[in-house]
Amino acid sequence: MLTLAIVSLSGGQGKTTCALFLGKRLAKEGWPTLVVDADPQHNLTTYLEAKVDQQPTLLEFLKKAVELSEAIYPVDGKDNLYIIPSDDALDAANEYLASSGAAAILLKRRLEVLKDTFKVCLIDAPPQRSQICLSIVGAADYLLIPAEATVKGYGSLVRSIDLWKSMRDELKVSEAELLGVLPFRDRWIGLTQSKESQLSVTAMGEEVGREFILPSIRESERYKQAINQGKLLSEMGFGDLEYPFDVLVDLIKGLIN
Ligand code: ATP
Ligand code: MG
Repeated sequence: MLTLAIVSLSGGQGKTTCALFLGKRLAKEGWPTLVVDADPQHNLTTYLEAKVDQQPTLLEFLKKAVELSEAIYPVDGKDNLYIIPSDDALDAANEYLASSGAAAILLKRRLEVLKDTFKVCLIDAPPQRSQICLSIVGAADYLLIPAEATVKGYGSLVRSIDLWKSMRDELKVSEAELLGVLPFRDRWIGLTQSKESQLSVTAMGEEVGREFILPSIRESERYKQAINQGKLLSEMGFGDLEYPFDVLVDLIKGLIN
């Protein structure tokens, strides 16, 4: 199982959007795919219409309070797609992880038993540098960092890279590699990219190396429509907007084969 953490240390950077569409695309490839909603805001759980009042959630999974199979729910109407959901109570996981003294390895350990069940595991991270976030980076084989094509997005990328490098190079509690940076809400007017988008994506390339910059997600209302209708963009006739996910699926294919 390839564990891919979708991390970015500010709100509204496209983490959940990315987890949602990538999860659906990977499942459509025929690969058993697990998405883990690790954000107490539980947007991913809501978007996938997994009922938020159902227990157990990730919290019970982390605490090992339930049988593994009870914490994993199939996503209705989607073959190969499963979720470990979240709810507001997941905030308590920060205390649990802090008191365990092993935040960086706990989620990794818990996921280990699933390694022959799923081909890919995607983890949707919360926006804060919390214990949950440390546990996610510790569990990941690869990191995908979405970042809004703005000054704020660039800041989010820099903080995310700092966290990853300190965990990997200084504390040595993560073996994650960078899969790529996904510029989010890249603004174009006709054939012209907005100045702010252009400058921020260039700065992102200077930060991580241009080869790590993935094709961007364009600013578009179509994304929100697709989320609200529970569909892929390609199912709505906007396959061109889904191009960043074509590239991601190919990249992941290369890693798991
Ligand atoms: P948080 O850290 O708060 O969980 P996030 O990083 O998960 O945020 P998202 O929820 O994925 O960010 O996206 C932020 C908002 O952008 C959402 O309201 C989403 O509907 C919207 N959005 C998604 N795709 C696009 C797009 N291509 N253009 C404009 N807005 C978009
Ligand atoms: Mg989110």
